[in-house]
Amino acid sequence: MKNRFSPRELFELRNNIPVDLLIRDHLQIPSKVRDGFFRFLCPLCNEFQTAVNPATNLARCFRCEKNFNTIDLVIKIKGYGFRDSVLFLKEVSTPPKVPADALTSLAAGIGWALPEKS
Ligand SMILES: [Zn+2]
Repeated sequence: MKNRFSPRELFELRNNIPVDLLIRDHLQIPSKVRDGFFRFLCPLCNEFQTAVNPATNLARCFRCEKNFNTIDLVIKIKGYGFRDSVLFLKEVSTPPKVPADALTSLAAGIGWALPEKS
């Protein structure tokens, strides 16, 4: 596995993963929508005086006066190093592969039996 990431790769990871989705779904940082704006619990000061800027894909804490990009957030929340944080984001940005039998297990999970293939 390579240790270095190209500027292009890093640019994409910082920009192509919506920072609000990363915060809410992947890092599970407490978040809420207030006054029509997405707010998240600042990992530094634990306040909700925050916002995300979709234009720059940065999360900002107004209290700490700090911007966080997607990589910064993973480093802070997961406690990973830079490399592991980048790998985490790569994982997040790749759509999960759906195994061929996913439908069958889904059906089984909700109590249905699919007709047997003959
Ligand atoms: Zn803060």
